[in-house]
Amino acid sequence: RAKESGRNAVREYSDDMGADRKERLSLLRDLRAAADASELMAFFQPIVDLRTREIMGFEALLRWRHATRGFVSPGQFIPLAEESGLISRIGAWVLNEACQRAAGWPGEFKVAVNLSPAQLRIQDVFSQIYSALQNSGLPASRLVLEITESVQLDQTHAGQTLRALRDLGVGVSLDDFGTGYASLSYLRSFPFDAIKIDQSFVRDIHRSEESQIIVQTVLAMAGRLGMSVVAEGVETFEQLETLIAEGCAKGQGHLFGAPMPAAEVAGFVAQWKYPTRGGRSRFTLVS
Ligand code: C2E
Ligand code: MG
Ligand code: MG
Ligand code: MG
Repeated sequence: RAKESGRNAVREYSDDMGADRKERLSLLRDLRAAADASELMAFFQPIVDLRTREIMGFEALLRWRHATRGFVSPGQFIPLAEESGLISRIGAWVLNEACQRAAGWPGEFKVAVNLSPAQLRIQDVFSQIYSALQNSGLPASRLVLEITESVQLDQTHAGQTLRALRDLGVGVSLDDFGTGYASLSYLRSFPFDAIKIDQSFVRDIHRSEESQIIVQTVLAMAGRLGMSVVAEGVETFEQLETLIAEGCAKGQGHLFGAPMPAAEVAGFVAQWKYPTRGGRSRFTLVS
């Protein structure tokens, strides 16, 4: 505690807290309103099968278009929504929006929706998901839920919910694998279909032996556990080629396509070309 380092430290500490708290309260007030005023949007980013070179699905990524702040990133407002309980309402909105949109896509693409551990603690998350499927008519087999390991999952309730969802035919992925503190015990306790390797391991896979060994090991382990692997944050051909050489089956990242508004998905699918060196890429390579 700040108290232990003396009076001045206490004052500085609480002044900072004051400014930070005000800012958070103001953002929270706006977020509450945004949830009603449709300032929220779902963007969609392609996930690509590296073997068939086809798009296999899209991940829904929440965007908040704030009247004066512009786009506020989910990294800023999701934690706020979780702490305030707003995540239940926002989460239900994203589920409905993603299922609705996916039901209208020109193909049997899957749609992945992020679910925070806070949502898994909510008693009616199962019925939220069930009614999003019912209302949209999307088959359960086309919905994937992505769970991060950032917060400790409640072993019993969350486990029951995930198992019930899997029985329904919904896919479950472990997101940001390798960055949380409980990765391996999660794999033992929960029935995941897929692992998403965090972009921090993908970023330097072509030049770091350590990252390469970690990715190789995750791929071997996932294979033996019967889980598939998606590499996140693929930006360059070097990364892509290394991932393919290691046997990674799925990829996602700016090299294939950035998150886009729902209205652009059909056009993106129609014009889809697997990125090749020398061919035209939608992404300007920096390195
Ligand atoms: P995530 O689920 O791991 O999503 C991947 C993040 O990586 C997204 O950030 C995406 O825009 C970004 N990304 C994709 N390709 C690349 C690339 O090639 N390079 C780099 N540098 N980044 C890339 P975004 O959209 O800012 O979302 C951040 C996080 O917020 C997500 O991480 C997810 O944990 C959370 N989130 C987003 N939407 C939702 C939602 O609807 N519900 C919940 N509960 N969480 C959400
Ligand atoms: Mg995700
Ligand atoms: Mg991730
Ligand atoms: Mg992430």
